[in-house]
Amino acid sequence: MNIHEYQGKEVLRQYGVNVPRGKVAFTVDEAVSAAKELGSSVTVVKAQIHAGGRGKAGGVKIAKSIDDVANYAKELLGKVLVTHQTGPEGKEVKRLLIEEGCDIKKEYYIGVVVDRGTGRVVMMGSEEGGMDIEEVAAHSPEKIVKVVVDPAVGLQMFQARQLAYDIKIPGEQINKAVKFMLALYKAFDEKDCSIAEINPLVVTGSGDVMALDAKLNFDSNALFRHKDIVELRDLDEEDAKEIQASKFDLSYIALDGNIGCMVNGAGLAMATMDIIKYFGGSPANFLDVGGGATKEKVTEAFKIILSDPNVKGIFVNIFGGIMKCDIIAEGVVAAARELGLDRPLVVRLEGTNVAKGKEILNGSGLNIVAADSMSDGAQKIVSLVK
Ligand code: ADP
Ligand code: MG
Repeated sequence: MNIHEYQGKEVLRQYGVNVPRGKVAFTVDEAVSAAKELGSSVTVVKAQIHAGGRGKAGGVKIAKSIDDVANYAKELLGKVLVTHQTGPEGKEVKRLLIEEGCDIKKEYYIGVVVDRGTGRVVMMGSEEGGMDIEEVAAHSPEKIVKVVVDPAVGLQMFQARQLAYDIKIPGEQINKAVKFMLALYKAFDEKDCSIAEINPLVVTGSGDVMALDAKLNFDSNALFRHKDIVELRDLDEEDAKEIQASKFDLSYIALDGNIGCMVNGAGLAMATMDIIKYFGGSPANFLDVGGGATKEKVTEAFKIILSDPNVKGIFVNIFGGIMKCDIIAEGVVAAARELGLDRPLVVRLEGTNVAKGKEILNGSGLNIVAADSMSDGAQKIVSLVK
């Protein structure tokens, strides 16, 4: 789960990570009173969306007066911001962070991630902060340094010190940077983050070390023990279809193709997307209906798939192991009837009671094409949507 920058900074502040003073604003009036309250000579107006790259896209404005703050707030609120992370459709700005301006001397990068290679938490740093870290990684990987954290003891002071030296934090700020990194690690660990990215971390003119940006991601499997974090969820930032799917315990991820997929089991769902691609098609979603695909679940899954205007056809690929094929077929037919299915539907069933299942599909009188194998089904749906 993602949260906004201002929320991330609030979480980090609780752990003693140094962040600028700031306040969220939903309206121009709130922005103006937040700026007055801050009373700083320079105020930064920052668009709050769940995507980075805002600076380059015009979503971070430096205001020198209260009038500037009002004008920038007016400009940004309601604006659709397109950054390299939002996709071409962009994201509408509904919240702003009004923050004190910071006298930046140099920008660095610090990121904490769960590294699959080592199976550990890794803290990365770079002297090239502020800009796209992806570009640094691609063109000068030697400028990214890492320390691997032993989970039994956590990030050690010597490791933080090493990292601070390696990214060339000036000598006078090393201790502050070490304190910053230890606090950041503690926040990451205790809140069950999957990513904590500070880009940029800055050294200021007055010699402070501070997080000017904060991106926190949380492991959704651990959210049950973080009620405070769940409260920060902003449904406006999430795909409506994915929210609906999560209510019915369906694992759904929207993609940009035109073949809707309904599959049971994550592995089979991945293989189904692969085989659609193999035969020249493009999946509109990943959808795992799980082991116990009831009629209600199948209906809900159909509704979600059909609510996507890009979907030109549906491929159902289900293995009747726990569920029997005839039960699944009944569910598919009932859902197709109830929803008045208007697009081609190819169904491939395999497993227990498969013959009975196919009979139900063929006898339904609906426009359902039964497939004999996975590749047969994939080829059929690809040609039907062409
Ligand atoms: P994004 O990563 O989405 O572009 P950032 O929060 O990193 O957004 O802001 C982009 C740039 O704007 C930063 O690299 C920094 O140079 C500048 N900036 C952000 N916040 C402040 C601030 N409080 N004071 C001064 N400059 C800032
Ligand atoms: Mg940033």
